[in-house]
Amino acid sequence: MTFQPNSPAARDVAYVLHPYTNFVAHEEKGPLIIDRGEGVYVYDDAGKKYIEGMAGLWSTSLGFHNDRLKQAAMKQFDILPYYHTFAHRSHLPGIDLAEKLISVAPVPMSKVFFNNSGSEANDTAIKIVWYYNNALGRHHKKKIIGRVNGYHGITLASASLTGRSMNHRGFDAPIANFIHAEEPNHYNNALEGESEEDYATRLAENLEKMIVEEGPDTVAAFWAEPVMGAGGVIVPPKTYFDKVQKVLQKYDILFVADEVICGFGRTGNYWGSQTFDMKPDILVCAKALSSSYLPISATLINEKVYEPVKNASAELGAFGHGYTYSGHPVCAAVALETLKIYDEENIIEKARDMAPVFQKQLRSFSDHPLVGEARGVGLMGAIQVMQDKASKKPFEASAGVGPMIANLATEEGVMLRAVGDSLAFCPPLIISESEIEEMFACFRRGLDRALDHLR
Ligand code: PLP
Repeated sequence: MTFQPNSPAARDVAYVLHPYTNFVAHEEKGPLIIDRGEGVYVYDDAGKKYIEGMAGLWSTSLGFHNDRLKQAAMKQFDILPYYHTFAHRSHLPGIDLAEKLISVAPVPMSKVFFNNSGSEANDTAIKIVWYYNNALGRHHKKKIIGRVNGYHGITLASASLTGRSMNHRGFDAPIANFIHAEEPNHYNNALEGESEEDYATRLAENLEKMIVEEGPDTVAAFWAEPVMGAGGVIVPPKTYFDKVQKVLQKYDILFVADEVICGFGRTGNYWGSQTFDMKPDILVCAKALSSSYLPISATLINEKVYEPVKNASAELGAFGHGYTYSGHPVCAAVALETLKIYDEENIIEKARDMAPVFQKQLRSFSDHPLVGEARGVGLMGAIQVMQDKASKKPFEASAGVGPMIANLATEEGVMLRAVGDSLAFCPPLIISESEIEEMFACFRRGLDRALDHLR
């Protein structure tokens, strides 16, 4: 394609290196430039309106124009636009936010470490896990178990923890000490006729085998998203976390919940850990922590983890980890206001009330000739397409059917994300019933057009 000289598209292609993008295709197609947002909608630079079926990147819980968040940022800019939290320095927004997070945590937690992104929050947690075991003199207890298709970010350690080949290939990842257990994907991986409970038992037994083969005194932690998001919205089979946690306890392995997507109401409760009865030692959150208006993430650790880390920091002189922007006061003020809005405007309860409407509409696609499975929980879900739904025969990956459907749905007015041949939905938590209907109506038009193409 030729772009108008000096147009935003031409300048984008000339200068911007985009995340998660095929650069050759980008030079050909150019960008879709988003200009502004309002409620659950965004508008491109030609004025076309889209309903944001993915809340950006699973993240903009309060939609795209929240005045309270704007005011909170402006106010904090006036008071103190920047300060750091290194070496005993502190500020009120950081203190208030840490206190609030500890008060709402799903299990008793002790301390909060602030970072800027989900990836960094996981990196901090990984480093704390290693620091903790070094502090206890367990210098070989360092391996970390992620899961195939789990997503924890893209910094070198979090990408290694992530279980997706796209994040490893070409990057010399994973680095040492990261291994991956099976994903808990009943629809795609259970045996013929195997119940969710039996499948969960088998997964937990396989996890235990893995730990025993690796050597339990070399395994430090197990990481899990309550619902795998970027892996295709994989809801764990019944009893899965219960069985997995028993194995972890048996071998003194820390349990880390990555709540970067599931935190703050997404699955119908404040935390995904509550929906699935998870009792993590460390909890990582980001995205909806500030409705993604400003970058901030948090790593919460319990007292069991904190004590040895505290002692080691004294022995070593300091805990030698921190970001210039850890707990940035403007980001912290916006996050604090976000959590206040969740409470004062009953956002999490409202999202829970809206979930049955969303899930009913989502599951109505099960009858569509292309749809193998429609799955989800709360206000997140996915529709997985199949070449032959009866025999569960997938399309060839190279056919790019999922991305084609996402593109057609976008043309029809809904922003979606394809994870392979699963189309993910994760709208802002403030979405209304009529907007849910509109979102799925746009999607249906895109899906029907895809069916016409494929016939
Ligand atoms: N963890 C989970 C569960 C995520 O979904 C993501 C991003 O989608 C991350 C971590 C990484 O977060 P970030 O992109 O802010 O680094």
